[in-house]
Amino acid sequence: MNTKMIVLMGGQGVGKGTQAKKLIADNGFKYVEAGAILRSLPKESPVAQIMARGELVPDEDLFKIIGDAIQKVGQKDMIVDGFPRTIGQAQWLVKQYATNYNIHVIYLTVPKQIMLDRIQNRIKENMANGGTARADDLDVKVVERRINNFFTVTGPAIEWLRTANGIQFSEVDVSEFEFENNYAKVCNALKTRQK
Ligand code: ADP
Repeated sequence: MNTKMIVLMGGQGVGKGTQAKKLIADNGFKYVEAGAILRSLPKESPVAQIMARGELVPDEDLFKIIGDAIQKVGQKDMIVDGFPRTIGQAQWLVKQYATNYNIHVIYLTVPKQIMLDRIQNRIKENMANGGTARADDLDVKVVERRINNFFTVTGPAIEWLRTANGIQFSEVDVSEFEFENNYAKVCNALKTRQK
């Protein structure tokens, strides 16, 4: 039961994706990214419309999509990013996978203003690289709704995981300006074996 499942949690713009990419480059972990999988669904699907409004996709859809993605990875070390986001999802994850995987939840925290600043930076970087910014980042109301859901819906899920049995939980403040400093803190948290 030594297969790692690193679960990255945190609000919009905290840098889950950036941390994940560096962890993958350094360790070869597999990657299950909820937002990217959902974004690959057809634009006219009900799920895409829910996402465009900045609302949460129903748990049942996530169980199917994430369950399939984890099964595809199989018994290999992986990062799960963007899931869970509700208490139902958190309980499902622990029930389904805590027996076969060594689950370590890394909760990345920054103040709300930094979340907003980093979303603005993400928009600028996407545009500068010749791409297009995510539509759900460009609409201020949609950003507000996603952040609000993070605090009201995902917050309680995080609190449940903090004391859940059979998993590890670490909270890491990643509000430093230098990415490398934040990354070093994440790597340190991953080395700890105790809750
Ligand atoms: P962000 O975290 O910045 O909102 P993501 O790319 O992680 O962006 O997710 C984009 C959208 O996909 C969310 O606004 C939501 O609609 C949907 N989504 C992603 N993960 C989940 C999840 N675990 N549960 C419900 N909806 C989700």
